[in-house]
Amino acid sequence: MENCIFCKILKKEIPAHFIYEGNNVSAFLDINPLNKGHVLVIPNEHYADVFNIKTEILQELIGKSQEIAKKMKEVLGADGVNLFNASGEAAEQSVPHFHLHIVPRWSGDGVNMNDWWQSKTKKISDEELQDLAIKLKI
Ligand code: 5GP
Ligand code: ZN
Repeated sequence: MENCIFCKILKKEIPAHFIYEGNNVSAFLDINPLNKGHVLVIPNEHYADVFNIKTEILQELIGKSQEIAKKMKEVLGADGVNLFNASGEAAEQSVPHFHLHIVPRWSGDGVNMNDWWQSKTKKISDEELQDLAIKLKI
């Protein structure tokens, strides 16, 4: 997809901090994280949403997401994680290339999942993203 921002990230036309690059699935840090270590897991082929993604690819993507979630506990000391996906305009999907969000959570971190767009205010530097990408690499 020519104008898809995540396809451009996959083609390395736009920089991102990758934590996993497989044959079918990749994962990188969200540029505007809900919490430090917020990861997006995406298929390497362009599928718009959960309605279109090939089931086998989604299964692989979920398996990888479990690995990443465990790594967040292990290396970031996360107490929990939120995994979520927005599919379709009505669900407030903003990038039309399927992506699963994985957000590390700590007790009392102040992130409010009931109002997550409002909570999306954490500023993060490129150095911090770099450091997190090294820690979370699988
Ligand atoms: P959605 O609202 O579609 O579920 O989430 C899209 C996510 O992609 C948002 O959390 C947003 O911060 C992230 N995002 C958008 N553009 C970029 C980008 O250029 N680089 C990275 N790393 N993340 C992006
Ligand atoms: Zn795409």
